[in-house]
Amino acid sequence: MLTYLNGMGHEVTIPHTALLLRGDATVLIDTGFADPDVINSAYPQRIWRTPEQHLQSLLGSIGSSPSDVDIILHTHLHYDHVGNDRLFSNATIYAHQQELSYYRDPTAPLMRQEYFAPKYHYPPQFDAERIESISADTTIAPGLDFIHLPGHTPGSSGVLIETADGLTCFAGDLVMVRENLDPKQPVGLHVDVDMCERSRRKLNSYGAQIIPSHDMRIFDVADVRKLA
Ligand SMILES: [Zn+2]
Repeated sequence: MLTYLNGMGHEVTIPHTALLLRGDATVLIDTGFADPDVINSAYPQRIWRTPEQHLQSLLGSIGSSPSDVDIILHTHLHYDHVGNDRLFSNATIYAHQQELSYYRDPTAPLMRQEYFAPKYHYPPQFDAERIESISADTTIAPGLDFIHLPGHTPGSSGVLIETADGLTCFAGDLVMVRENLDPKQPVGLHVDVDMCERSRRKLNSYGAQIIPSHDMRIFDVADVRKLA
């Protein structure tokens, strides 16, 4: 799933991440997964979350709350990126138009479970009616750009952020782990591996530092089992 045609059968622990940006507006990139028990029963896997890891608790730990979030940007609409939209009633939510047209009836059966596509009787994970669609690379605010990086899914997108430490990009699941920055090692789960490579080249052209979406090493924890 993480590294195409490589490392099959090698089990790793991965995080599900969301990023909070605080500036003139408060912006959240992705919202993680909903109730782990519902996820584990509908699409058998082993995901878990401690109470402290719930988005509401994490926001509270930095003196914030869901009502502070003005904008949510979705890198794509897989269940583990959209599961807590319902907490953020004040936010305007955006995703790429191609995600909104693809998630309802994905061609690849593997993708139906990733989207929890309601057509296939999965419990809906988000309210599509709330989501505003974006169909081209767009500046959301000065220093904050939403860019199309398809390949993992048709409407996969990244968020380019000007930070005090330089240009940074959260590239969604185009870069689940840092190995995916290697042209020979695209992400394993994708709809189009050639599109992944074109998006990787586009991403590279910005010269931004990149935050992988499912890589335990972003937390500077040497031994991932300590978080398990
Ligand atoms: Zn995904």
